[in-house]
This record gives sequence, C-alpha cells and structure tokens, in this order.
Amino acid sequence: MPVLRVLIAEDDASIADLLKHHLQREGLDVCIAGDGNVTLRMARNWADLLILDIGLPAIDGFEVARTLRREKRELPIVMLTARADEVDRIVGLELGADDYVTKPFSPREVIARVKTLARRIGKAYQDHPAILKFGRLEIDEVAREVRVDGATIRLKPREFSLLLELASNAGMAMSRQMLLEKIWGFDFLGDERTVDVHVRRIRLKLEEQRKLPGILLTVHGFGYKFACR
Ligand code: CA
Repeated sequence: MPVLRVLIAEDDASIADLLKHHLQREGLDVCIAGDGNVTLRMARNWADLLILDIGLPAIDGFEVARTLRREKRELPIVMLTARADEVDRIVGLELGADDYVTKPFSPREVIARVKTLARRIGKAYQDHPAILKFGRLEIDEVAREVRVDGATIRLKPREFSLLLELASNAGMAMSRQMLLEKIWGFDFLGDERTVDVHVRRIRLKLEEQRKLPGILLTVHGFGYKFACR
C-alpha cells in the first residue's frame, strides 16, 4: 500500500521537527520545506497532503495555497496559523485550504486533521494499533496498559491518562494547568500540585523501579514534557 506523503511547510524548525516526528510515528512519509518556493515545487511533484504555515519566507502560505488552487491541484491543505485575524482570512477568502489549526497546537490535533483528510482522498492510511513505543516502554491505549520489557506496570487510571497525554505529545511542553484540564477536567477542585504528585508516582514506577530514567522531564516554572527520542 502506498504511504501518504506529507509535506510540512514551516520555517520554524522546532515546530517542523516536532510535527515530522509525530507524523513519522504514524507511518507516514514526511518532508519539510522551509520556504514558499520549495513548498510549491514539492507540492507539485511529491506531496499528497500539505501542512502549510502562513508565515513562510519567499512566498507566504496564503499565496502558496492560492497558486496551487489556481493550478487546479487538489492535494488537501491544512493551514497553520498563529493569529485570529489569519483565521478570518483563511475562512473568508476561500483560499482552498481544507482545514486549519491555530498555534499553539498539539501534534495530536494536527494528526487528527491529517487522518480525516487522508481518508477523504482515499489514500492508504493504516490506522496503526494504538500502541506507542519508546524503546523498552510501550503504552497501549486500547488495553490501557503500560509495559516495560513486555511486563505490565500497574498504573492508576489518572496516572495512565497523564502518561498517555504526555507521550502522545512527546517533545511538547505541557503546562500543569493544561494537564489538569485535560485529565481531571475543568471542574476539578484540586490544584496544580495534583499533577506533580502523579508525575512523581509515574516516575517512581517507571524511572526508578524499572530503571527507565529521563522519561518525564520537568519544564521549570511551567509543567512537564515526555522526552522525545
Ligand atoms: Ca513560520
């Protein structure tokens, strides 16, 4: 089955690399273009789907999208935007973008958009079994199990959810507040130390007891991130 080829047009290397990492984990063929000229060339000759940042050197994302549509190229486009007024333009000008994501986004959001669009164009996209693998560590989303070297580790439900959330966004710093809202919900009455307590327990069970150091990294004054490797 041919693999979906995704072009990431983004001059911010940290964002481009993060997206690339996550899309590759999904089994997709991924390239990065750092300016508008390269983007146009690769969109015409190589890509099945384009993730297009608006703020690009040489030719901006608006113009890239407009040019591709003028040429009647039908590859789906997901625009990345940093500002609300750009959203108005994407929606208002009917550039031919199929969807958009506003920064800061989680890689998961982008992957969800890519999956939807890939299905629409009928491109082979094997929904991989929802098991995240990081060396000796496996996180099985369906069975809600964590395994190290094949042995199941007992995590409490919230610990599992927290680990899964961080691992699904590996490499991305997530604030305590964001984690609280995602795992415990908006109406949770506890404070941000709840997150710290759970992180400590996960570290104890994985990093200390199973000798898997440096999985959950502290981002000082902010929150945590899952080590991207
Ligand atoms: Ca940019």
